[in-house]
Amino acid sequence: MTTTVFHPGWVLWMTGLSGAGKTTIALELDRQLRARGVRTERLDGDVVREGLTRDLGFTKEDREKNIDRVTFVAKLLSRNNVGVVCSFISPYKAMRDHVKKEVTNCIEVFIDAPLEVVESRDVKGWYKKARAGEVQNFTGINDPFEAPELPDIHVRTDQLSLEESVAKIISYLEVNHLIPTANA
Ligand code: ADP
Repeated sequence: MTTTVFHPGWVLWMTGLSGAGKTTIALELDRQLRARGVRTERLDGDVVREGLTRDLGFTKEDREKNIDRVTFVAKLLSRNNVGVVCSFISPYKAMRDHVKKEVTNCIEVFIDAPLEVVESRDVKGWYKKARAGEVQNFTGINDPFEAPELPDIHVRTDQLSLEESVAKIISYLEVNHLIPTANA
């Protein structure tokens, strides 16, 4: 059985284009943190949109409502010493600034790869549909993405492997005393 370790609450807020690697990194990060006894909860855009925010679409207003509700959940968890791993495109700077104000120990993580790369990955086939005009309000194609100017962590997934990407984030959490160092 894994022993739970003491750590403060925090919110790792991963922002980036669809296909940049947010969900893939969040899953592996969550697995590694739990194995160390860190209390984590994962909030993912696609999952949240099937439940908590299933009534919302992708207009600017609905995107704001989506993030607003998620922020409320992240706020409750983080103030109770849970590490919350969030993966949301969250394209607008103002909404990300709102998250930072609301939650405990917010860490902004830019999961980044050039549009050509994420488009060639086209994990869920959305880019092809957006280019064909079959999908409106698709971030990066026919909707804006305001890239973070000074993220706390910048992960280039076209340059780093999944393991390296996760290690970079874990190292940040350790250095900033948000989780105990391995084997501590
Ligand atoms: P998002 O959640 O940002 O929409 P996904 O995690 O669903 O993106 O998809 C990212 C894709 O990129 C996956 O197919 C994954 O295997 C690939 N990938 C390549 N390099 C990396 C990396 N360093 N980190 C995360 N994903 C990567």
